[in-house]
Amino acid sequence: MPDRDRLVLLLLGRQGSGKGTQAVRLALHLQIPWVSTGEMFRQAAAEGAELGLLADGFMKEGKLVPDEVTIGIVRERLAKADALNGAILDGFPRTRAQAEALDTMLGGDGVDLVLNIEVPVSVCRERMIKRIEIEGRPDDTPEAIDRRLALYEDQTEPLLDYYGEKVVEIDGLGSIDEVFLRCVKASR
Ligand code: AMP
Repeated sequence: MPDRDRLVLLLLGRQGSGKGTQAVRLALHLQIPWVSTGEMFRQAAAEGAELGLLADGFMKEGKLVPDEVTIGIVRERLAKADALNGAILDGFPRTRAQAEALDTMLGGDGVDLVLNIEVPVSVCRERMIKRIEIEGRPDDTPEAIDRRLALYEDQTEPLLDYYGEKVVEIDGLGSIDEVFLRCVKASR
């Protein structure tokens, strides 16, 4: 891992890969904030904030919230004092335009490290269908799940090429603890 004061770590992986769970644990472990755009949108929607109302429609349909909105909330979040030492980015960037905007925001060499949590698409789909029953997230209909998984292949997977040598592949199959250990090893 590069020797610098700020660590910006990205987690990539399909929805249902367990990326969010690992992001929260890594943030605690590395003592840097967890920055999840999906969580920020859900929270804003629950509060009835303007941003939330705007994002809610896209989320329910399994579509991406427009880049300019998403980039704006990340820029604001990373400017807060607790993110001075870095952040774990979860669910952002999801498009090439977002990745380029993030590089501009960060300056220098941009993102330090990208962990790609690899879980086969069939397993992700199964996990997400189960989550409908447990969490009841409004964007977890079977149709929205398929749309989100297809969007991932189309828009987000190409970011692996964009980040090139910064990417470390993490096998996402196994227990939460096993996958966490692999993430910790990779971020040392
Ligand atoms: P997530 O919790 O990361 O699966 O995100 C839930 C939903 O929020 C997504 O399906 C999108 O509708 C929206 N969202 C989250 N992050 C982004 C992003 N980086 N760009 C566009 N939309 C996003």
